[in-house]
Amino acid sequence: MTMRYDRLSSLNKQYVWHPFTQMKDYNSVDPLIIERGEGIKLYDVNGRAYFDGFSSVWLNVHGHHVPELDQAIIDQLGRVAHSTLLGMANVPAVELAEKLIGIAPKGLHKVFYSDSGATGVEIAVKMAFQYWKNKGQEGKTKFITMNQAYHGDTIGAVSVGAIPLYHDVFRPMLFPSYVIPYPNAYRNDGGEQGAKEATLTALRRLLESSAEDIAALVVEPIVQGASGIIVMPEGCLREMAALCRAYGVLFIADEVATGFGRTGAMFACDHEEVSPDLMVVGKGLTGGYLPVAATLATDEVYNAFYADYEEQKTFFHGHSFTGNPLGCAVALASLKLIEERNLIEGVRSKASFVARKLDVLRDAPHVGDIRQKGLMIGIELVRNKATREPYHWDEQAGVRVTRKARELGMLTRPLGNVIVFIPPLASTEDELDAMTDILAEAIVGVTEGEPVQ
Ligand code: PLP
Repeated sequence: MTMRYDRLSSLNKQYVWHPFTQMKDYNSVDPLIIERGEGIKLYDVNGRAYFDGFSSVWLNVHGHHVPELDQAIIDQLGRVAHSTLLGMANVPAVELAEKLIGIAPKGLHKVFYSDSGATGVEIAVKMAFQYWKNKGQEGKTKFITMNQAYHGDTIGAVSVGAIPLYHDVFRPMLFPSYVIPYPNAYRNDGGEQGAKEATLTALRRLLESSAEDIAALVVEPIVQGASGIIVMPEGCLREMAALCRAYGVLFIADEVATGFGRTGAMFACDHEEVSPDLMVVGKGLTGGYLPVAATLATDEVYNAFYADYEEQKTFFHGHSFTGNPLGCAVALASLKLIEERNLIEGVRSKASFVARKLDVLRDAPHVGDIRQKGLMIGIELVRNKATREPYHWDEQAGVRVTRKARELGMLTRPLGNVIVFIPPLASTEDELDAMTDILAEAIVGVTEGEPVQ
């Protein structure tokens, strides 16, 4: 360890409050301090390299320090770093909106920018609420969310969230939402079919009894991320969307984690040809370079706000950095690379490669379930494979495995007992090979030989 590291580490402890972290635990270990990135590796201030095995929290697409992306920012810097969208436009924001509508599920025609997944969801929720008010249906004020949902950390996004550990403390300041089960085949005795039926039955019943109170349903399509990479059984999303449509409830797809190829399609909704009324994108939109998010809306939603000013139907929402030109410029460059490099087709073949590699873990005594859609992978560790009994939370099984992976040269974060593997989409097969080897070694090394009860 160098003097420089020691200094940064002590300043970090003194001044920085990290997200989602009990700082008392954090302060007892030497933090990793990243200095630079190259390709799909990150380098710490001591020069040690690590594979970015979770795409810097699920957002990196092409790797780090990508010449084309760097250049797009530099070129835009030579013009203007920031100018507002309030009362005026800017070139990259306009061009990016056109591009997004060109690739989005059909029916989405308008783009409202913001700067994080949470604000994108907040906007979708507020739009859905005001949509019904503007249409004169003031009773439609409630939202449906799904068990264990995560949509970000602003108050509206938390109100449609359902992870007790993160959200319960704030409950008194939230608006209540209806919660239906997310179809989790591993935790349902009826498997995929049972899980799907439970979700659709709960949704149908709720819509039958309460659709006139409900503005919208919010869903993480195909893959529920923060709950542990839960993959929906086939056909479930399509049927949910159809039910919402039939009962006059807006369908909001939160594609913040799944968008831009992560699941092997441009958007997760594309797997089932679902056209949401509102769709939120963030994270990978800029290739994971800069904080830009967007909420896409149909003409039907947009037109409910389009009126003479005196009618008071305006959407009063915005952020200082809405439509930031640097972010929009790098997003355009990232989308160009996705197309030029045929990245999404690549994800599908890389996903098959990873699936074959991870097969070695299927018989591991503490690997309960391996879930995968494209390059979003979750490996659920259990104390007892036969009964699916989870590790107790204070055993920190996930934390121990990811700590081991870091020692072996790969970064990732656990979600409780689920090990997340979400590599940058540009990872080569050789890199995926090396990363899955580390993953397997860490899991087996930490859990093998542990008692099963
Ligand atoms: N929605 C989903 C599905 C997410 O996975 C996340 C973050 O992980 C968010 C929203 C929040 O995005 P952000 O962290 O950019 O606010």
